[in-house]
Amino acid sequence: MTIHILNSLKIKPYLTFIKGSVTFLLVETNQGLVLIDTGIGRRDHLHPTQRMRYYKYFYRASKGLERTAFHLVQKLGYRPEDIHHIIISHLHLDHAGGLSDFPWAKVHIYKEEYDHVMARPSWKYEPEHWEHKPDWVQHKLTGEKWFDFDAIQLKGFDPEIWLIPLIGHSPGHASVAIRDGEGWILYGSDALPYNARVDLVPRWFARYFMYHHAPCIRELVAAHPEVRLVAGHMALRFYEND
Ligand SMILES: [Zn+2]
Repeated sequence: MTIHILNSLKIKPYLTFIKGSVTFLLVETNQGLVLIDTGIGRRDHLHPTQRMRYYKYFYRASKGLERTAFHLVQKLGYRPEDIHHIIISHLHLDHAGGLSDFPWAKVHIYKEEYDHVMARPSWKYEPEHWEHKPDWVQHKLTGEKWFDFDAIQLKGFDPEIWLIPLIGHSPGHASVAIRDGEGWILYGSDALPYNARVDLVPRWFARYFMYHHAPCIRELVAAHPEVRLVAGHMALRFYEND
């Protein structure tokens, strides 16, 4: 069972020194290939909406289709039609753009995110990304725990996959933990700061401003070094495909 950590877009936001990315994962499981987040999709490059044009402008995003999940999957020797499941941390436009490239896949999402976005989409979302009416699978908390976190185990997956609601960045944001041999990969998505540097977020900053979960995650990895953190936006040097 292989877990690929991939970059779907190079970004260099204005007014920062960041040379970053938009991260997604491709996981081989007993239920076929699973994508965790999708980056931006082919249509976002070929026929971008106004909102997507602004996003790409302000983030000084890379061009070209070769980084889309649809193309990277094939470059790694897989077939896009073998993506049976997508797990989406949240529906912001830089994470959900690839949904429409895999219209046959079931899309797993924390119910709070789905309910919020469908009722009150904001400028951070691009409804075109789910215009094809995906086969949504909405998940609710049922009292399970992953370490000390309220979490939802996605049933029947080997390796184990857990959805861990860490809300704040979006109303129903959920991180995703994947069993990786003896350890875990915690794909924190946008609940984690750039490059997963939870050590750089002071507690007061987390309390009043952003990355509210960083102190808890820092404690988790200090106690459990077998948990490896991956953020929704990692530095370019992190990747196997850069
Ligand atoms: Zn986001």
